Amino acid sequence: MIIVMKKDASEEQINHVAEKIKDAGLSLHLSKGKERTIIGAIGDEALMTKVQVNALPGVESSMPILKPYKLVSREFQEENSVFDVGNVTVGGDKIQVIAGPCSVENEKMLVETAKLVKAAGATMLRGGAFKPRTSPYDFQGLGEEALKYLATAREETGLPVVSELMDPRDIDLFIKYVDVIQIGARNMQNFRLLKEVGKTDKAILLKRGISGTIKEWLMSAEYIASQGNRKIILCERGIRTYETATRNTLDVSAVPVLKELTHLPVFIDPSHAGGRWDLVEPLAKSAVAIGADGLMIEVHIDPENALCDGAQSLKPTKFEGIMEELGRVAQAVDRTI
Ligand code: PEP
Ligand code: MN
Repeated sequence: MIIVMKKDASEEQINHVAEKIKDAGLSLHLSKGKERTIIGAIGDEALMTKVQVNALPGVESSMPILKPYKLVSREFQEENSVFDVGNVTVGGDKIQVIAGPCSVENEKMLVETAKLVKAAGATMLRGGAFKPRTSPYDFQGLGEEALKYLATAREETGLPVVSELMDPRDIDLFIKYVDVIQIGARNMQNFRLLKEVGKTDKAILLKRGISGTIKEWLMSAEYIASQGNRKIILCERGIRTYETATRNTLDVSAVPVLKELTHLPVFIDPSHAGGRWDLVEPLAKSAVAIGADGLMIEVHIDPENALCDGAQSLKPTKFEGIMEELGRVAQAVDRTI
């Protein structure tokens, strides 16, 4: 429930409403604007029926939040969420591009890639350290060693770094080394993991599950937000359909649908969606045109010999060309990239 206080509501009246909400067993979110205070009562709204909210002194109006996800809904917060990751502003007019290899293979390739993608206009660096591979016999990632290389690449380039966390037991390592914790498609509904990252103050990139509906995805974001962390980026990466010509099917319609339902920034990963390097450009263009706030693109200095996802990885020169093309699309929709 959202409770709007009168313009001249006193501290005492605000505190009184807050106490009533807590007594009813709900949690409280205060938003003190220049004009007036808005109070969010989050939890089971049925518990609020005992409280005559509109009769409380200082209350102007109240309305229920109808969606099952509360904190991440547009109903709860009308304006877009905008937050900083290092020196990068996510959710603003500038479209942010995360680029880098699927997995960190060694320090040299990572630092070299980081410098090249930065020169081409990427604003964050990606690199997998713990890889969610379908086969246990495939390359599983270098683990902590990879996280250290990511931190070195950040030192050398200034790019904030993004990496996937699969296991809550590794969370301290991620807090130490990375700027954005990625939750992969396979873990979109790993609720214990979501709660753990919700307790950190790192930005979280939450990828859409392979068969996750938009509602389920937003409920997963709510798990993170419910623990206090509001720095959440949603990342569409293709869903599984009957089509086999592409690795997954990019759901571009998810962008405008999400923009209506949530205030969270929305990114698109055209690399995992198409599964082919030659599809990255058209899919990325469609993402920018339809209003995505960012992109995540796999770039490898030697895709033919990549240890993971070489077929969908761009060579740095190709990435550079695509960034130029994307600049023109961004301009057409009044954004920068
Ligand atoms: C990744 O980005 O490295 C990855 C494994 O993606 P997804 O979870 O979307 O498959
Ligand atoms: Mn990959």
